[in-house]
Formats: sequence, structure tokens, C-alpha cells
Amino acid sequence: MARLKEPDPLPAEAKRYKDRIGHDSARLPTKRCANCACRHFHRHQQRLRWFQAVIERIVWPIHCLLVRWCCVNCGATFTHLSPLCVPFKRYLRSEIETRAETYVETDPMSYRQVVKERGSAVVYNDPIANAESTDAEKEKEATPELRPSTVHRWIGGIAARREQWQPAVRLARQIHQGARLSSLVIAAAKYRSQARKRVLETCSLLLRALRIVTERNFTPLATLGSSP
Ligand SMILES: [Zn+2]
Repeated sequence: MARLKEPDPLPAEAKRYKDRIGHDSARLPTKRCANCACRHFHRHQQRLRWFQAVIERIVWPIHCLLVRWCCVNCGATFTHLSPLCVPFKRYLRSEIETRAETYVETDPMSYRQVVKERGSAVVYNDPIANAESTDAEKEKEATPELRPSTVHRWIGGIAARREQWQPAVRLARQIHQGARLSSLVIAAAKYRSQARKRVLETCSLLLRALRIVTERNFTPLATLGSSP
């Protein structure tokens, strides 16, 4: 991994993301233990993790303190992630979902276009490799911008969480009798295989469902799956 460095000072908006991510993670989880369904946890550990906030088409690395919680009944541990974050991703949820949604919902829209902001590339604020970086890290730095393949992967990642998001889809169907969910048409230019078409449809369905339930303020559903 390339050595990341948090700029000092951070822009105010990036600082707000950093504070909110740390604050959310430190709040006692309200979910049940995935292992034994117990609702009681205590703090186990904390660790620093990198996230990337995009502000005005600049990627700002932010180093956030996350709390690992432990179930008092069975001892299972898990990291409590802020709803701003997505498990195993550095980019923030809003970035991932907005770009994925723009791609699947806008015709015509290519991956090359969806990674730009008003026609300009989204770039890192600073070189992320330094003199001690390995060759692999320096090579990575040759492309210090949000890449089309990243959004392609995000869409696959969202579609893969189909099972987890089923409660949101069911709820959205009840709210809108399925109207907004059944009008999905993916532009034919966006896929070459039926498998990819299904991935795009699933991604679009899940994002629409999530938008419908969050509009109604079903906050527990909005944070579905945010705690690995
Ligand atoms: Zn447990």
C-alpha cells in the first residue's frame, strides 16, 4: 500500500467527515451480534483506518479512528463502521453510490465520463508515493486519479450485496407499489453480456430502493450492512 499522508490542515469538509466517522464508530452499536443475537457489547480495540473523501474533485486521504466492539455473550468482535463508509472500501459511501447511480441511471454515460467532474479528472491532492515507496507503489502513482475501472468494480460490489439489501427493496416496494423499482431500463450500450446486464439492473434496483427508504427516514435500513 502506498504511504498515505493526511494533509494538515484538512479542508473543513474533510475534517467533518473524519470527525463523524470516528464519532459514529465510537457509539455503542444498536444492532444484534451476528453470531448470537445478543445486544450488549463492550469496546475491544481501536485502530486507525484510511478513507478517501472527494471534495471539489480532489481526493483527500483521512485517517480515522475506528472502534472494534466485542459481544459480551460470545466474544465475537466486529468493527462498527459509520454509515458514511462502506465495508472494505476507502471511498465514502456517498461517492460510491452517487457515481454508480449516475452511471446506471444516465444514458448516455460512460465509465470515462462518470469518473470526471464537470469534465475534469478527480485527482489526489498530493503524490502518495515518496522516496521510500516501493516500485509497485510508484507505479500506482502514475495514475493518481479516480479510474473508470474503479466505478465498474463499485457497481459489481453493490450488486453483490443483493441479499443484505432485500429488506430495503421489500420496504421500497411497499412504499411505492414497485413503480419506481420496475421502470428500470439499462441502456444496451452499457453491457455486452447478460450477466453484466443483470449486475447493472441489480445495482440500479438496490440504489433506487435505498433512496426510497432513506427519503422516508428509515435510518436503520440506510445503514444496512455498514458493520462488517
Ligand atoms: Zn455474540
